[in-house]
Amino acid sequence: MDPGTAAHRLRRLLMFSLVVQLGNKCFRCGKEMTSDDFSVAHKVPWLDSEYPVRLFFDLNNVSFSHKKCNVICRIIKRKSKAERLATRRISDKKYREKNPEKYKKQQRKQYLKRKADPGSRDYPKGTAKGERHGHSKITSLDVLEMRRRYSEGETQFSIAVDFGLSRPQIGGIVNRKQWSHVP
Ligand SMILES: [Zn+2]
Repeated sequence: MDPGTAAHRLRRLLMFSLVVQLGNKCFRCGKEMTSDDFSVAHKVPWLDSEYPVRLFFDLNNVSFSHKKCNVICRIIKRKSKAERLATRRISDKKYREKNPEKYKKQQRKQYLKRKADPGSRDYPKGTAKGERHGHSKITSLDVLEMRRRYSEGETQFSIAVDFGLSRPQIGGIVNRKQWSHVP
């Protein structure tokens, strides 16, 4: 048995001993459970609630039920996507009104995260590239010239000597790994 499975089984056995201590009754159907078919259930479904995190970790909201009973309950209680979104919007708004300072801080944090992510809409568009970068030894025109000469058969090494760069740097430029914003 691999260690992950073993640890999982041990956790389940420990949890089941707790179930037995608590009377071993399925929260849904009231019948006895075995260590194989019990599952942890939330009395109030937490995911679609107003306070999902609080409900998820609230021990008073946790009960045990047959796996089967738990699944059936989840399927029945499941809301549509639109309903879930509406609920979330309301809870967001309530949270915002209750903790304006905290909310602001969170928004700021999320914004900074997006700003650092090149795939996001908040990533700065005018980030310095090429010669505007300030550290560059060459210009866009040089890049065009290098690519032209390379395409005409000149070696990367001879171009490198001409522009005072290294051979790998020329390789990066002509293969468009560097200066990729220059056509
Ligand atoms: Zn049951």
